[in-house]
Amino acid sequence: MNSNTARRKTRQRTAIEQVFSKHERPLRVDEVLAYGRQFVEPLDKATVYRNLNILVDNFWLKRLFHPSLGTLYERTGKGHHHHFHCRECNRAFELPGCALKEDVAAPDGFVLEDHEIFLFGVCQSCLGVVK
Ligand SMILES: [Zn+2]
Ligand SMILES: [Zn+2]
Repeated sequence: MNSNTARRKTRQRTAIEQVFSKHERPLRVDEVLAYGRQFVEPLDKATVYRNLNILVDNFWLKRLFHPSLGTLYERTGKGHHHHFHCRECNRAFELPGCALKEDVAAPDGFVLEDHEIFLFGVCQSCLGVVK
């Protein structure tokens, strides 16, 4: 790897980190690509995938498997929480904390080990509440 290549990779990874700092919600790969291009050109899908994998390996990002949006990437270290999927704009939003009462959610005699909750509907900006 020559020094030019090394520099370009660093710039692209920095751009992807900037994307996640600016957009504080789980992102699809195509969103990372589109937002990343606002910070650095050129940026292609293979480069985005490669850098997302590195950031996951470094525990800076984690993958989230969403039933309708597929693989999403989000920052680590946020603790247990869930997501809201807007069906108008296909964006995922982070919800603060958890509203599920695990001790009453499972039937009697069942052992609950974990849970996943996915909410969906229409977000504030698609409803026109926020311009
Ligand atoms: Zn929306
Ligand atoms: Zn929960």
